[in-house]
Amino acid sequence: MESDRNGENGTNTTPAPGTAVVVGAGVGGLAAAIGLRRAGWSVRVLEGRSTPERYGTAFGIHPTAQAALDRLGLGEALRARALPYRRAHIRRPDGTVLAALPLERVERKAGRPELLVSRPHLIDALLAELGRLGGTDVEYGQRLTDPRTLTADLVVGADGLNSAVRTAHFGTRSRVRTLGTVAWIGIADFETEIHGETWGRGRFFGMTPVEPGRTNWYAAVPGATTAADLRAAFDGWHDPVPRLLAGTDPATWIRYEMRHLHPALPSFVSAGRVALVGDAAHAMTPNLGQGACTALLDAEALTRAVAAHGSAALPAALRAYDAERRRSAQRVALGSRTLHRFVTTRRPTLRDALIGLLPA
Ligand SMILES: Cc1cc2nc3c(=O)[nH]c(=O)nc-3n(C[C@H](O)[C@H](O)[C@H](O)COP(=O)(O)OP(=O)(O)OC[C@H]3O[C@@H](n4cnc5c(N)ncnc54)[C@H](O)[C@@H]3O)c2cc1C
Repeated sequence: MESDRNGENGTNTTPAPGTAVVVGAGVGGLAAAIGLRRAGWSVRVLEGRSTPERYGTAFGIHPTAQAALDRLGLGEALRARALPYRRAHIRRPDGTVLAALPLERVERKAGRPELLVSRPHLIDALLAELGRLGGTDVEYGQRLTDPRTLTADLVVGADGLNSAVRTAHFGTRSRVRTLGTVAWIGIADFETEIHGETWGRGRFFGMTPVEPGRTNWYAAVPGATTAADLRAAFDGWHDPVPRLLAGTDPATWIRYEMRHLHPALPSFVSAGRVALVGDAAHAMTPNLGQGACTALLDAEALTRAVAAHGSAALPAALRAYDAERRRSAQRVALGSRTLHRFVTTRRPTLRDALIGLLPA
């Protein structure tokens, strides 16, 4: 792309693109690569895994993240495979409703519903769009050990929870900490009308739509290590909780250790050429279901700022990105951590009384 970086001709010019390396081909890394390719940047994507990972269950995509996907040219691909999430409740183990999740309010305010999409579909859509744009093939089997060796104009650390880019450029004060809660996630091959979360003493069970004919579920119980432990912990809970556990092959369950980044990073950017997105920047517990949304919002905001400033003004672009995203993403992470405490309390009486004050 020919451009006049300094505007010396007095014309309104497109900021000059540059070169970028994106580390990690998860949701955040692929979205960042798409945004940069759309701005004309030359992009390499390095992924540690040897092939695309096609596992994972459902992601909630909030309307703000849908708008980010629209700006990245992926809105239609998302809507083709996603289901609206319109009605869900928080319940007690006996099935009595404590409160409604505010999905209608979200839809009224945004003019579109929250969507649910399976992780493999979202990853496939991102890979297809990157392929359509051309010029960048994900380089699999490239687990980066020393990010300082990368010489591109821009390095995007999208390498998840244990980010090597974060460690190399931001130090180890902010580290991923475990919370002692293990969640199990799975997909059952039947649909249910009952969606939302059911909260018991120190444990919870959630269920959402994911695609026609299937239900996404997740569950956390202290000390449960086997399928038998998990099934026993939810025995006697309201329908369809035991049926969902009984109806999913434990070989397909995903074990998900709950972790978060602590303390929060003082900046998402470093040295005028390194930026973190997604879990690398703000790994959070999954309680608010915002892991994919925040990664998409980061990637879109970063690449919009970089496209607007061009490679000649990268430090300014990265400052704009940090200003737009850091506080917002860290607020979501804190909210998710707080909800994790609330949901897993071993003294549920006060919690249920408080939640009972909300509209059912
Ligand atoms: C296989 C998989 C399945 C998941 N399933 C679910 C799920 O079912 N439900 C849910 O809520 N969340 C799931 N998550 C987490 C969720 O995808 C993220 O929390 C969220 O989407 C943020 O995405 P991210 O791109 O920041 O990080 P991630 O999705 O974790 O992507 C990071 C990528 O970076 C790669 N990587 C890491 N280190 C290096 C390195 N040194 N060099 C090169 N590449 C590296 C990883 O292999 C990975 O592909 C899953 C993550 C993965 C990787």
